[in-house]
Amino acid sequence: MAEQAFVTLATNDSYAKGAMVLAKSLRNHKTSKKLVVLVGPHVSDQSRAVLHKIYDEVRLVDVMDSGDTAHLAMMKRPDLGVTLTKLHCWTLTNYSKCVFMDADTLVVSNIDELFNREELSAAPDPGWPDCFNSGVFVFRPSNETYSKLLQYCTEHGSFDGGDQGVLNGFFSDWSTTDITKHLPFIYNMSSIAIYTYLPAFKQYGANAKVVHFLGRMKPWSYTYDPKQRKVRGDVQEASHPSFLLEWWALYSGEVVPMLFREYGDQPFHSGCEEDVALSQDAPPPMSSAERKQKWEQGQADYMGIDSFDNIQKKLDAFLK
Ligand code: UDP
Ligand code: MN
Repeated sequence: MAEQAFVTLATNDSYAKGAMVLAKSLRNHKTSKKLVVLVGPHVSDQSRAVLHKIYDEVRLVDVMDSGDTAHLAMMKRPDLGVTLTKLHCWTLTNYSKCVFMDADTLVVSNIDELFNREELSAAPDPGWPDCFNSGVFVFRPSNETYSKLLQYCTEHGSFDGGDQGVLNGFFSDWSTTDITKHLPFIYNMSSIAIYTYLPAFKQYGANAKVVHFLGRMKPWSYTYDPKQRKVRGDVQEASHPSFLLEWWALYSGEVVPMLFREYGDQPFHSGCEEDVALSQDAPPPMSSAERKQKWEQGQADYMGIDSFDNIQKKLDAFLK
């Protein structure tokens, strides 16, 4: 029997950070499924290298050169770029069944039981519960479904401009035909729920299995102080302050060291305050070749960039 997989998508380095944390959270909760990430051509080599270490499969998707149907659809509907990229998950036909998860989701408990559900299973959207939210859904890869989806997309577009509109249009009987396709809200819990129905959140929130940082502010939009374990920025407005902290703990503890390893001497801002401070102290950038030469000539900048403090910070970041 073909394998089953969790699938996500990242078209840039910011969403790639989300994808890294998501995969770590799935592995930490001992999933037995494969992990697949679709990446767009703008994801950096360094991010891809880290994704390769965490995911079983990293698949490059580029709607602009991926066969005629997708390309044509793209030309007719350039506004649906990221949406068309997400629909690509139906082409993963080496898997029998998959669960798609947005890169801004975090798993807080094992959710392998989702594979007992059928296409298309998803949780209600908190804003319009007759629609499903497309941040988490169960599907069956199929080239036939993929071309039907693309055809639907070019003919009808998306009523919200994104993948959720297309998918709700295509799987339009979701809300009426089969209740087993309604995933409980705990599989896609978004912050909006806390504000719109606080008593329900108090009653059921502790059972959450997947947290979705839906909306404009994503976890990586904030900064983090690893020493005090505090998220900085307008956290008031933040979705799920406690889950946001959980996201940052995982990111700074398990993902940032991997990213630093890939970036080496090249500049990289993790979003943790330590390396922001580090980069502010630093003298004008010197190429790594120049720096190596200076070291070899015995001219290390012991009071500046090569100070013991900086070396220790780097070592700590690696060892954490
Ligand atoms: N996405 C992406 N690049 C983008 C925007 C979106 O890779 O520039 C992917 C990513 O997996 C993301 C999903 O598409 O989680 C849906 O977008 P988003 O989560 O921002 O929408 P929301 O859940 O806030 O409605
Ligand atoms: Mn999302």
